[in-house]
Amino acid sequence: MKLTLIKHAVIVAAIAALAGCASTTSPGAVDVDRRQLLIVPAEQLEQMAQVSFNEQNEKARAAGKLVTQGAEYERLRRIAARLQQQAPVFRPDAANWNWEVALIDSPELNASCAPGGKITVYTGIIRSLNLTDDEIAMVVGHEIAHALREHGREKVSQAMAQNLIGSVVLGALQTTETQAKMASQVADVMLTLPNSRKNESEADKIGLELAARAGFNPAAAVSVWQKMGAASSGDRPPQFLSTHPANESRIADLTRMQAAVAPLYQAASKQ
Ligand SMILES: [Zn+2]
Repeated sequence: MKLTLIKHAVIVAAIAALAGCASTTSPGAVDVDRRQLLIVPAEQLEQMAQVSFNEQNEKARAAGKLVTQGAEYERLRRIAARLQQQAPVFRPDAANWNWEVALIDSPELNASCAPGGKITVYTGIIRSLNLTDDEIAMVVGHEIAHALREHGREKVSQAMAQNLIGSVVLGALQTTETQAKMASQVADVMLTLPNSRKNESEADKIGLELAARAGFNPAAAVSVWQKMGAASSGDRPPQFLSTHPANESRIADLTRMQAAVAPLYQAASKQ
């Protein structure tokens, strides 16, 4: 068991050295800089993300749960648009992403952003936490940051390096049926598997800066996690909170980061 782990660690290190493993984003004012293990082609994952995003939306549409108009949808779309305008600060190619926003009418407290800018938000997280615009921006900004940093691709690369899903990814571009099945498996790894604490902290930092630059009050990063903390005190904590613990160290980090983004917020247009 131990030997296998060591072997995996050696393989991961060797692949990391071969792959070059640059950082996917510029450091920004929040100074996020870490070399990443990225051995799966980004294009392949973006394709899979598109397939599984479409499938999710078709299912929701068939169930009458896909919200595509009305005040709640327009509010989310407006907030997401302001955030995505700032994404090129961290990586210029994000200006060419085919950004999409899906709002799903469901009590779940959940939100995500798949590779290539496919944003999904459940009405449950907005309604049950009674989120302000600034707080929605913090949640969506955090999710966009995961996509900009390509944390999903990192998770798939790690799983592949450890031989967990190697053939899955390589075999992905066969028949449409296989592709859809693989896409949903890979999407599971990208979006459902929890991120490391390191990745979570990076997404907090970059999300905070995106929101501040887009004119959203940085203080909302603290209030939104306080609300999530209160929501997770029940005996069945929501799914989002099992992968995003709203603990004191997260809130303390976000409080400490306020000063770094305050000038950006001050200088930003507030609409
Ligand atoms: Zn996260």
